[in-house]
Amino acid sequence: MGKEFDITPREVCRVETKYRRIVTPLPAPASLETLETLRRVEPISMRGQPPVVWDKAEDVQVYDRYGNMWLDWSSGVLVTNAGHGMPEVRRAILDQVNSGLLHNYCFPSEERAQLVDYLAGLAPEGLDKVFLLTTGSEATENAIKLARTFGIEKGGKEKVGFVGFERGFHGRTLGAQQAGGMPGQKGWIVNDDPAIVQVPFPDGYWTENVDFDCFCTSLEQKGLAPDQVAGVMLETYQGVGPDFAPMEYIRALAEWCKAHGALLIFDEVQAGFGRTGRMWGFEHYGVRPDLICFGKGVSSSLPLSGVIGRAEVMDLYPAGSMTSTHTGNPVCAAAALASLKKIVEEDLAGNAARLEGVLMGGLRGIQEQHTDVIGNCTGRGLVAGLQMVKRGVKEPDPDLAFDVVERCFHKGLLFFAPVGSWGQTLKISPPLTISREAVEEGLAVLGEAVDEAVEVPG
Ligand code: PMP
Repeated sequence: MGKEFDITPREVCRVETKYRRIVTPLPAPASLETLETLRRVEPISMRGQPPVVWDKAEDVQVYDRYGNMWLDWSSGVLVTNAGHGMPEVRRAILDQVNSGLLHNYCFPSEERAQLVDYLAGLAPEGLDKVFLLTTGSEATENAIKLARTFGIEKGGKEKVGFVGFERGFHGRTLGAQQAGGMPGQKGWIVNDDPAIVQVPFPDGYWTENVDFDCFCTSLEQKGLAPDQVAGVMLETYQGVGPDFAPMEYIRALAEWCKAHGALLIFDEVQAGFGRTGRMWGFEHYGVRPDLICFGKGVSSSLPLSGVIGRAEVMDLYPAGSMTSTHTGNPVCAAAALASLKKIVEEDLAGNAARLEGVLMGGLRGIQEQHTDVIGNCTGRGLVAGLQMVKRGVKEPDPDLAFDVVERCFHKGLLFFAPVGSWGQTLKISPPLTISREAVEEGLAVLGEAVDEAVEVPG
């Protein structure tokens, strides 16, 4: 976190395989003008990612204009679940563009009708209302608003408590950051809402106590009475790990929410649409949420997000009073429908589940070679992470994570910048269309990069 990649071109070894090709110094000298323009005109916050100027991306590969090709283990940022630029998605977008309907606000459209109907069909029974938005942050903001509105409706104006989790991430807007628990990101929030609190997330690594009692004790310490809680929102797996909570914890949480009339909200912005080996990540816990927030992987391309829930909650606002300018934009809706159909019809969740053993087996093998600097290795389906730590201690090492990502970039394996509260996690999230062969090739490259980074720190 907070680091930027050097954009001085460096000689790197030539690479030529089925999935990767590196034939220029990196960053490619001819791309410098674009990189420099971006550095001049965009805020510094936009400089986090490896300096490859994307020209096109197809299936599991990203290309620049200068003959280089990367095996992509980022999916953008967990967006292209159905593969980059897949023909079905492109065709749907082109057909929609050619139809002449590019925007219609909240006026009805067939595209929106088809998409919300399809999404409701994918959701658990009873969750049959879908509100479309544009970004993940909007979806989580909307869930907070709905939960509180429902709380007030059922329990009066005291029932507005909202519980998030430490190290949780729900977006970068005001409500999303208040509900989230990322250290260092809240300094700008002046009037911190006392009714929005965070409790420890039971990841079993940074928080060793994974007992549900911890949830209740923590709420009590924060002065929030159970019956004042309107909603509890968690990432289905915490993106920083990725970390899943123990099943017993989540089942106890679901019971607790039911007993106290609080809505259980799963933020599936990352976990949804096959990423974890199931259509929805919460299926691993065997519970049913009251609200689902989704985004990213829904379209594998254009911006689209939303909230799914029961009519009782979703219908709280009267006609015209809960809207969004770009809700279900017809081009985005057509792209999402095509992406979802591909995920379902080609069983990409099944592919993620089948490849989990290969990916996790390979990553654990890398960890075993470096137990002193890879503190934790977690994952499910086709999302995984290596937490880099200072040699022999449980202290995050963002520099090592960054060094490994940079070395992989030079070798033709693309990650986004390390994530996590301290930037210590090397996150693995290839498109769900990836083959076993490409997973194995990526693992070999990653292993080599970790070996080198540990031997000769960058
Ligand atoms: N929730 C989760 C779990 C996320 O991972 C993200 C984005 N990384 C968001 C919400 C926010 O999504 P967006 O960037 O589209 O606002």
